[in-house]
Amino acid sequence: MKRNELTIKKLINKLYKSNELEWEELLYILNHIGEYGKEYLIQKAHETRMKVYGDRVFMRGLIEFTNYCKKGCIYCGIGAFNKNVDRYRLGLEEILLCCDEGYKLGYRTFVLQGGEDNFYSDDKIEEIIEEIKNRYKDTAITLSIGEKSYESYEKYFNAGVDRYLLRHETASKELFEKIHTNSNYENRIQCLWNLKKIGYQVGAGFMVGIPTQTKEDLIKDIFFLKELDPEMVGIGPFIPHKDTVFHNEEGGTLEDTIIMLALLRLFLPYVLLPATTALGTIHPFGREQGIKAGANVVMPNLSPIGVREKYSLYNGKICTGDEAAECRGCIQNRIEKAGFSVDMSRGDNIKWRR
Ligand code: SAH
Repeated sequence: MKRNELTIKKLINKLYKSNELEWEELLYILNHIGEYGKEYLIQKAHETRMKVYGDRVFMRGLIEFTNYCKKGCIYCGIGAFNKNVDRYRLGLEEILLCCDEGYKLGYRTFVLQGGEDNFYSDDKIEEIIEEIKNRYKDTAITLSIGEKSYESYEKYFNAGVDRYLLRHETASKELFEKIHTNSNYENRIQCLWNLKKIGYQVGAGFMVGIPTQTKEDLIKDIFFLKELDPEMVGIGPFIPHKDTVFHNEEGGTLEDTIIMLALLRLFLPYVLLPATTALGTIHPFGREQGIKAGANVVMPNLSPIGVREKYSLYNGKICTGDEAAECRGCIQNRIEKAGFSVDMSRGDNIKWRR
C-alpha cells in the first residue's frame, strides 16, 4: 500500500470512529483520495448506514406545487428572470389528488416543494397543510418553499408541518453571494437556525460543482452541517440549465457528489440522506451509487405529469414521464436490485423526539 493510501485509510478510520476530522485532515482526503481511498470511504459510509438505519431506503412523495418564484438564484431554471418558463400553480384540490394517489401507493410522507411564490399566503399554506393532515393522519409533511419569516415558519409548524427543507446551497458566503441576486447568506443561515428552534426536523444541503466552487468551499459545507446538525441533508450535483448564465459551464460530477455523500454519512451518522433526482440525472445509476455510499432516502415525483417538465430547475431531469404507480414499482425494483429494501413509513430521523 502506498504511503498516502495509508494516511487516507487512517484518516477515514478516525472519521468512522469519532465522526470528526480537523480542517487539514479533510483537505488532505479531498486532495489525495484516489481509487483506493474512494472505495474505502464508501465501504465505511455503508457500514455506518447499516449500523444506524440498516438496509432501508425511505420513500418520500414529492409534490412540486408551484414553479413561480420571486428569487433570482442564477443557477436555477425557474428563477424570476427566466421568461421561457411556462408557469403553473396547483390548487388545493390538485394537491390533494396527488396525496391521494401517493397515499394509495403507500407513501406516508409528502414533500411540498415550490419556488418562493407570494400567491400562497400563509393562510393558504396553512389551509393546505391542515387539509392534508386531516385526511391522512399518519403522514409526515415536509415543506420546502424557501426563506420565510420566523412567524411564518411558526404558523406552518403549528398547522402540522413536521419537516422543512432549505438547502444552504453553499456555506461559502462569497460564493453564495455570487450565485444569488436577491438572497442574503446570513438570512438563509438564520432561517435554518430558526427552523431548528421552532422544532422542525430540518434539512439543509448544498450543490457540488457550482462554477468556481473550491475544495475549501466544500469543507465549509461539511463543517457548517456538523455545527447545524440537521436531521436531513440534500446533496446533489450542480447541473447547468440552458436559460441561465451557467448554461455553458460544466456540471458537478458523480464522483465528487458520491464522495460528499459518503463523507456526510460519516460526519453525521444519523442523518437522512437522499440520493437526489439530480444525481440520478447525471448518471443512469447515480441514485443506486448514492445509496451504496450511505444515502438512505429517495423522493419520487407525485406531481401531475402535465406539470413535471415545467418544474425545470436544471435540464435532463429524470422520471418526468412516469406515472406515480409505475415510478413506485420501478424505484422499488432498482433499490432491491442494488441490495437494499424500501421503507414506506414516515421515516423520521431515529434520533428524533418531538
Ligand atoms: N424554493 C425552495 C426550493 C428550491 S428547489 C428553496 O429556496 O429552498 C430545490 C433545490 O434544487 C435547491 O435548493 C437547489 O439546491 C437545487 N437546484 C436548483 N437549481 C439547480 C441546478 N441548476 N442544478 C442542481 N440543483 C439545483
